[in-house]
Amino acid sequence: MTDRYAVFGHPVAHSKSPLIHAAFARQTGQDMTYEAILAPKDGFAASVAAFVAAGGRGANVTVPFKEEACRLATRLSARAECAGAVNTLTFASGEIRGDNTDGAGLLADLTQNLGRDLAGRRILLLGAGGAARGVIEPLLAQQPATLVIANRTVARAQGLAGLFGHGVVACGFDALAGAFDVIVNATAASLAGELPPLPPTIFAAGSLAYDMMYGRDTPFLAFARTHGVATADGLGMLVEQAAEAFFVWRGVRPDTAPVIASLRAAC
Ligand code: NDP
Repeated sequence: MTDRYAVFGHPVAHSKSPLIHAAFARQTGQDMTYEAILAPKDGFAASVAAFVAAGGRGANVTVPFKEEACRLATRLSARAECAGAVNTLTFASGEIRGDNTDGAGLLADLTQNLGRDLAGRRILLLGAGGAARGVIEPLLAQQPATLVIANRTVARAQGLAGLFGHGVVACGFDALAGAFDVIVNATAASLAGELPPLPPTIFAAGSLAYDMMYGRDTPFLAFARTHGVATADGLGMLVEQAAEAFFVWRGVRPDTAPVIASLRAAC
């Protein structure tokens, strides 16, 4: 019988996950379907329950349900616990297993696709929301020289830094000093077409400016280009987090390069 998977979100029609997982399934010969399900904002748990009752095997979770999915899970992976959010659910043996593949997705894009070695490097993470929290532990595991979290609301950055302990520094944008090798924009500013008030001194020759947003150019990437540094958007992260979820469900690692290339060509 064909296995059913889905992505739950609100909104969800824009999601590229059905395209990505259909490509992975074709490529690896997995017998599965993957659909987008619009859950009511106050009806996430009921939507998931209906999907499980209809034979659903697993699901991705996107905005605004990642934290609710964390509470819904009956068992959490270590990386979901660290992230405090779940983007991948597996339904098996009466359990709801929660995982978070966003951090692994960013890491795969930075290190494998973009060829950046993060060990001993200076990393600046902009933002202190769900996406930022999910990538801190995987970034720290690369043993960077420094990891600075800068956020509009400084207390939120300090709260995150406190969760992860030594090696993480928190500040506001106006307190940023010195240059960084990799700057990851995990704020939602790009969604609103805005640029956080960043000093250009954060860039140095050889820096990489990475925006988690994808699908269109952003003020952050344009700002980075005017300072002559390399840039990348979050499309690779999107496909890599999906590949990690696919591996969690199916035990098979798809080849992400052709999927990234075809999505980029369609943008
Ligand atoms: P959240 O709403 O949880 O967090 C938003 C963050 O952005 C907060 O730190 C907030 O600061 C900051 N922010 C919002 N507006 C501005 C602004 N105008 N200027 C400066 N800072 C601002 O969002 P998420 O963490 O879930 O998502 C962040 C981004 O990451 C989104 O663009 C999302 O699309 C992207 N993303 C991409 C993924 C991928 O696979 N490529 C995966 C997950 C997310 P404050 O605390 O002060 O409010």
